[in-house]
Amino acid sequence: MAEKFDVVVIGSGPGGYVAAIRAAQLGLKTACVEKSALGGTCLNIGCIPSKALLHSSELYAKLSYHYPQHGITVEKAHFDFDKMMERKRNVVSTFNQGIGDLFKKNKIAHFQGIGHLRSPTQIEVRGDKNIQLETSNCILATGSEPMALPFLPIDEKRVITSTGALSLESVPKRLLVIGAGVIGVELGSVYNRLGSEVTFVEFLSKICPTMDEAISKQFQKILEKQGMRFHLSTKVTGANTDQSPITILAEEEGKEISFEADVVLCCIGRKPHTLDLGLENVGITLDPKGFIPINSRFQTSVPTIYALGDIVDGPMLAHKASEEGVAVAEVIAGENPSIDYLSIPNVVYTDPEVAAVGLTEQEAKTHGFSVKTGTFPFSINSRAQCTAEQEGLVKIVSDEKTDTILGIHILGAHASEIIAEAVVAIEKRVKTLELANMPHAHPTLSEAVKEAALAVHRRALHK
Ligand SMILES: Cc1cc2nc3c(=O)[nH]c(=O)nc-3n(C[C@H](O)[C@H](O)[C@H](O)COP(=O)(O)OP(=O)(O)OC[C@H]3O[C@@H](n4cnc5c(N)ncnc54)[C@H](O)[C@@H]3O)c2cc1C
Repeated sequence: MAEKFDVVVIGSGPGGYVAAIRAAQLGLKTACVEKSALGGTCLNIGCIPSKALLHSSELYAKLSYHYPQHGITVEKAHFDFDKMMERKRNVVSTFNQGIGDLFKKNKIAHFQGIGHLRSPTQIEVRGDKNIQLETSNCILATGSEPMALPFLPIDEKRVITSTGALSLESVPKRLLVIGAGVIGVELGSVYNRLGSEVTFVEFLSKICPTMDEAISKQFQKILEKQGMRFHLSTKVTGANTDQSPITILAEEEGKEISFEADVVLCCIGRKPHTLDLGLENVGITLDPKGFIPINSRFQTSVPTIYALGDIVDGPMLAHKASEEGVAVAEVIAGENPSIDYLSIPNVVYTDPEVAAVGLTEQEAKTHGFSVKTGTFPFSINSRAQCTAEQEGLVKIVSDEKTDTILGIHILGAHASEIIAEAVVAIEKRVKTLELANMPHAHPTLSEAVKEAALAVHRRALHK
């Protein structure tokens, strides 16, 4: 007989496993079905392994450009690529185990296999043997997968997605990255630091397209200084992968050009992963982009089936998926949660990092705000001078009429940590002057946030 649950979650990424924990905390009998390793894209082939490699490669790169500024030189530095990869694998497996332990602690039943909807209340787990589950509610959290170009078949060895880039066996001499979005730029940085010649081909006219225009331009200059090359407004049109090197054909300003590379990394975006879910059995249809449509309470067209994370429209970010996971569990438990999507931050974990929350200057203008901005460069921030991390700036976008902060954009060292203050400011609709008048410890990088807020009112103290 089928085991009965209050909630069955399909997918154990940061959306699914967090939803399962919150549902269990709320006293609901919960199961999670996962076809692969616990933790989803984020833990296994996304956020965590990429950040592990970004940090290892950053430490190595800093030996030549950062440490000498502090009077520290290391002769003949080497890196052991296998060891870097092994450390990355260990970080991932520690957290795989950690999620398993959290499931046990919260009495969440974990089923290994493909979750397939047979009806709104019946889920089949397809694995070594098929298991039938019965549930009052189902949460779909099956995430996303990389998109590919029709003429560029992925083999994850020479033509790779981000998944292959996280487990290459050696550092390629020439790496061509198609797509200069966040994932491409992060992984390109890893291999650039380890000695690859890295070239980006980007269809749009700027890198990381959702980034504030001014920040994106300055960020690109910094990456170019690090040795990466960018071909913007360039469309990849064909490929010859039969020979080595691989040839990629493209169109730049109406001219045909070609690139040669040992490895091609295709980072053109991700699409929702809904295969095998059995949506046809419950009558859920996808929107034109392949996302599962939901209402403001995360319900699909079947009210007891919910969806969240990368399979629904919105930014494809782990913390967005987790916030939705908590919210969906609370909706099922009869609560009334809400998520403020404006205060979901974005981070690029390069060196320097880029972090942003709220609206860009361009978005704010499009929304009809009368915009005032203030900036403060890290070159004159005292902590940045002490640590020799002077690249970048803080930019604050403010509503001239109400003085409400609309967006905070940080290009600089440790931006991923400094952004937490900005999230509070956006979520609580703090006024620019209120932020400017809050004490910030000295000397800290976050003083640049205070100064940028002061600069909105033309009152910066140190510039
Ligand atoms: C290289 C890379 C780096 C990234 N870095 C960051 C970052 O630094 N910060 C950030 O916020 N985001 C980052 N992301 C994005 C982030 O990983 C995703 O937004 C996040 O994982 C989405 O969470 P999710 O729970 O919706 O789905 P996922 O994490 O994709 O999890 C879905 C899970 O569902 C399982 N599944 C699918 N179908 C079924 C089925 N039928 N039955 C059972 N199980 C199924 C899958 O195996 C998977 O484990 C990165 C992504 C990549 C690729």
